[in-house]
Amino acid sequence: MTPEHLHKLIVAVADAVIAHADELTELDQAIGDGDHGVNMRRGFEAVRADAAATAEKPLPDALKAIGTQLVMKVGGASGPLYGTLFLALGKTIAPDASNIAAAFAAAVQAVEARGKSHPGQKTLLDVLAPVQAALADGGPHLPARLPIVAAAAADATVPMLATRGRASFLGERSIGHMDPGARSSALMIASLCRALEE
Ligand code: ADP
Ligand code: MG
Ligand code: MG
Repeated sequence: MTPEHLHKLIVAVADAVIAHADELTELDQAIGDGDHGVNMRRGFEAVRADAAATAEKPLPDALKAIGTQLVMKVGGASGPLYGTLFLALGKTIAPDASNIAAAFAAAVQAVEARGKSHPGQKTLLDVLAPVQAALADGGPHLPARLPIVAAAAADATVPMLATRGRASFLGERSIGHMDPGARSSALMIASLCRALEE
């Protein structure tokens, strides 16, 4: 992966999160404290500002740099979780990304440990876990299929009862709304895959 290519991927993901910040905030207004878009925009504006320097690093170091920025800038529950995702990816991934499925699996495990959570609790893990499973299954056209997997998984959080994070404070009233973190995860996957396909 060239620095130009990596730069394009970083900017694509950051721009997608920034462009959808209002939508993420609206989702968090329904079942949280209404800051998910603001939190994510703050983090990804920092990532975007450093994108050129980050893209010069080997892939593992670039992912760790992004993870560190997310931990420092996003805040809330999602900052440490997304930070952990990128830090763990950076720790495990090969410089040529040849072990992406194994690295993503390790990173999702790390998020579960950090969040003391697992899929089925109406969180970002309800998108990350099915994407990880699809990656592990492999097969053709992954960059075209993963966004569909991720979007369907985010939609599937709507009828779920939240048992982790702020939304869990609402109990049954969390049912009927998409989880904000599930939506931001789906957005990041979709924008990354789209940029990979270009
Ligand atoms: P906060 O809830 O602290 O305001 P954000 O609004 O930025 O933080 O992020 C909320 C999102 O974080 C939720 O929609 C959910 O997807 C995710 N989340 C919260 N707690 C956990 C957890 N323990 N494990 C996994 N994901 C979580
Ligand atoms: Mg919030
Ligand atoms: Mg908050």
